[in-house]
Amino acid sequence: MLYDLDVFNSRESAARSYCRAFPVIFKEAKGSLLTDVDNKTYIDFLAGCSSLNYGHNDPDMKNDLLEYIGANGIAHGLDMHTDAKALFIETFQRHILEPRRFDHRMLFTGPTGANAVEAALKLARKVTGRTNVIAFTNGFHGVTMGALAATANSYHRGGAGTDLGQVTRVPYDGYMGAKNNTCDLLENLLNDKSSGVDAPAAFLLETIQGEGGLNAASKQWVQRIAHLAKSSGALLIIDDVQAGCGRSGSFFSFDAFEVEPDIITMAKSLSGFGLPMALALVKPEFDCLGPGEHNGTFRGNNHAFVTARTAIKKFWSAPEFQETLCEKENIIEKGLKAISNVIEGSRLKGRGLFRGLDVHNGEVAANICRRAFEDGLILETSGAEDQVLKVLAPLTTPNKLLKEGLEIILNAAISSQISNSAAAE
Ligand code: PMP
Repeated sequence: MLYDLDVFNSRESAARSYCRAFPVIFKEAKGSLLTDVDNKTYIDFLAGCSSLNYGHNDPDMKNDLLEYIGANGIAHGLDMHTDAKALFIETFQRHILEPRRFDHRMLFTGPTGANAVEAALKLARKVTGRTNVIAFTNGFHGVTMGALAATANSYHRGGAGTDLGQVTRVPYDGYMGAKNNTCDLLENLLNDKSSGVDAPAAFLLETIQGEGGLNAASKQWVQRIAHLAKSSGALLIIDDVQAGCGRSGSFFSFDAFEVEPDIITMAKSLSGFGLPMALALVKPEFDCLGPGEHNGTFRGNNHAFVTARTAIKKFWSAPEFQETLCEKENIIEKGLKAISNVIEGSRLKGRGLFRGLDVHNGEVAANICRRAFEDGLILETSGAEDQVLKVLAPLTTPNKLLKEGLEIILNAAISSQISNSAAAE
């Protein structure tokens, strides 16, 4: 009875989503593998939408957490001082902030990415006394009202049920073709007192647009955006909720870009273990929210602090882990190129281990995902038409398994192309 999909279909809200694409019941997970109740194993190329960059149930995080719980460590403490929080702050400071000479303060928000974005927007508006926010085509920042106003996707925006305002939408890098630098348009709009664009409080962007189809901005474009933000008196907010924690090939997605955002939002893989935890990193001069002004009951998930600290120590305290990522990037790129050869007109997208293949057709992409799932691979899509196959394997996936997963996609692509041409005949 417990193992019957009816329990979900009859009781769970229609708002459920990922489970529709993967209609089985999962019971166990380890590393990059998930197992369902019928003991079928799947390679996980979704990784909790990049919340499991270090795989499922990392043994060190699990041990540290079990030990902490076993010793009656604080589970919930609002935002009170705890030893778990102190240890996390100290570790994050030492291994992430100090090597980059970042003096950002750590604002723990409610435990979702959207909540960190809400806090960042409030802060920017409070600091500047302005309301308008510059956000980009295909951007995704969450579905709470403030974040949703900055999110571009019309389906998600449609769920608001009210006006979503105080955001000016401008084209992202590459939106108007390779020959058009969209910064030119933005610069004109900002410099023209009659453009109709109100002076912005913030520029909010992802350096790689996860939900928007894996569009990756260039270093030059992001640098110019940073410059435009500064010259227009706006704060630069980089939303690293999905692209951060190593997904791009380095801890922050902008590490190689020589920019220092005023605010960085983080969530998803921050806890390392899939536990809810979010953070806005804020330059000290902009740390101006009063006590409890962005309040929340769950701003101190101490279990997440424990695993997050272990994750930083284990993966980011030395260069070795990051070095392993290059090889995996190459494997993914090679695998995607082989798949691209099978699908005419398809195009590789993304950067680092945040990669995908635009097959230009949502139905084709869905068909490939469905076949891949039958063959034991969990793969999702993104983009305006869900036309981009999105490879989000845990960064710790063994090379052999990575190749196996890519092979499954290749076979799914081949058989979907064969059935397409058979249908066309
Ligand atoms: N920002 C980005 C870039 C995201 O990808 C997401 C989630 N996909 C969010 C914000 C919102 O995060 P959450 O779902 O945890 O609210």
